[in-house]
Amino acid sequence: MTYIAEALRRLVIERAQGRCEYCLLHERDSLYTHEVDHVIPEKHRGLTVADNLCLSCMDCNRHKGSDFASFDPETEDIAMLYNPRREKWDKHFQLVGARIVPLSATGRVTVFVLKLNDDMRIRTRRALIAAQKYP
Ligand SMILES: [Zn+2]
Repeated sequence: MTYIAEALRRLVIERAQGRCEYCLLHERDSLYTHEVDHVIPEKHRGLTVADNLCLSCMDCNRHKGSDFASFDPETEDIAMLYNPRREKWDKHFQLVGARIVPLSATGRVTVFVLKLNDDMRIRTRRALIAAQKYP
């Protein structure tokens, strides 16, 4: 794991206002500290710069790993994962109740690879919505 300077880490957290930039879970509602994710992984020459970093909850980051694209489950074409630095969340996803519904190929591969709608995550989101803490 690459060392990320404290000032850069702080910038990433503040820019995201403490929310995972993939699933929108706030860090205060997570059991684990959110992590700084390389949108384009270092393995694929992604740099440790503000423009390639985002805040990610542990679940999203673990499932994403060193992926940056996948096969669209609908068309089987290759599609890039959602890039929070280049794109708007609302363009690729819509929240329907506690489900994150994909609106594009990028949305579909991201929901699939990051397992955004796993049962446990839906249950957590449902409880947070009821408590008016999500999104
Ligand atoms: Zn997340």
